[in-house]
Amino acid sequence: MNTITDFTNDIQAIDSAHFMHPFTDHKGLSAKGARIITKADNIYIWDSEGNKILDAMSGLWCVNVGYGQQALVDAATKQMTELPYYNSFFQTTNVPAVKLAEKIVQLAGEHYSHVFFSSSGSESNDTNIRMVRHYWATLGQPERFTIISRNNAYHGSTMAGMSLGGMGGMHAQGGMIPGIAHIEQPYHYALAPDEDRDAFGIRAAGWLEDKILELGVDKVAAFIGEPIQGAGGVIIPPKTYWPEIQRICDKYDILLICDEVICGFGRIGKWFGSQLVGCKPDLMTFAKGVTSGYLPLGGVVVGKRVAQVLIEKGGEFNHGYTYSGHPVACAVALANIDIIEKQGLVEQVLNETGPYLAQKYGELASHPLVGGAETIGLMAGFVLMRDKANHVMFEEELGVGMICRGHCFGNGLIMRAVGDRMIIAPPLVISKTQIDEMMALIYLALDKTLADLQQQGLMKIAA
Ligand SMILES: *Cc1c(COP(=O)(O)O)cnc(C)c1O
Repeated sequence: MNTITDFTNDIQAIDSAHFMHPFTDHKGLSAKGARIITKADNIYIWDSEGNKILDAMSGLWCVNVGYGQQALVDAATKQMTELPYYNSFFQTTNVPAVKLAEKIVQLAGEHYSHVFFSSSGSESNDTNIRMVRHYWATLGQPERFTIISRNNAYHGSTMAGMSLGGMGGMHAQGGMIPGIAHIEQPYHYALAPDEDRDAFGIRAAGWLEDKILELGVDKVAAFIGEPIQGAGGVIIPPKTYWPEIQRICDKYDILLICDEVICGFGRIGKWFGSQLVGCKPDLMTFAKGVTSGYLPLGGVVVGKRVAQVLIEKGGEFNHGYTYSGHPVACAVALANIDIIEKQGLVEQVLNETGPYLAQKYGELASHPLVGGAETIGLMAGFVLMRDKANHVMFEEELGVGMICRGHCFGNGLIMRAVGDRMIIAPPLVISKTQIDEMMALIYLALDKTLADLQQQGLMKIAA
């Protein structure tokens, strides 16, 4: 008789019978049973067996203010009581949506004037596609249709978001929408580890210019990129990259879209990632951190260049969602932004916890398995390497990343594996002491992984 285990088994059985999970191989999951997360506080989550786990991924990159923030609960309760829902289609509006649009524009800066709301990052990128094509059509250049993106980018999972993204496995299931082109990602450690980092950044940005000229300048509507690629494995471009991308977009008059779904709302030490990496996008996608994931909300911050054309000449934009400007989601976002401001989390990431994590990741590089360790704000990644001196990786079939992830999970740490790249993006409320705690768990997982590999004869280490 073990009621806790009975409960876990019951829920796992029902889960397996009825809940089709996102991005999941169900045969594998059913055999094992899903881990049931039952509660959370600050940077920790608990499963149904009572295990406490340090969530170094902020859920899915979204719980910026951490779990258990009562102010967000109160904001939702208050708004649900007053006005749980109303749409903004038919010349109506609501107070939280208005206030949130104003607030986001203030945080984004004077380059921007409007916000278009959705409920997710994927939907927001659909909005981006429709908006940039409508923009060029309004200006009498409807043939400016193609949007250039990058390999290994992640822009969501709807047809449009998936097509914009650069994940081959996703493209292979269901095909792509027309009018999307891809260039190579600016991944220095994998593509050109021996090249000077800044020179590589300029060269990688140059691939955009090559693609524009190949497609024809008059055919290209926009370029889209995450300031720092997230789901692709926390790929941090050289600092020369984004200013050069901006220069190229300006030169050919192409709209620039930054997908700020992860980088927005403080993740890398500015309100928006573009403010740190040195570009001024015409459109910025946001979601995730805007509500810290407490409720679904997303949208697009619209720059003045686009907003003016659409508003003055565009007529009716035949686009919108039932939940565009949802009052409860917007009220929660306002409370979330209020916490980020009052606790000074953006500055804390920039000046304290970000640099502290960078220092710790610098030390991590001496571990025999760790190659290419790098951080920016509170995003970080490294590659598990077989022989880092000679830049030799493990064979993909070995699934070394998954072995390491298993040891993280087993020891109370959530860290994500993207192939053999191990990545983190902890809540912005994480303290230096908690970073130490997280690092100890990372070392433990690395040592256990190394022991496994040595036992299997996959890695020889000089004593
Ligand atoms: C998560 C993510 C998306 C998709 O957001 P959803 O809310 O899952 O639709 C889009 N872009 C980036 C950069 C993301 O990280």
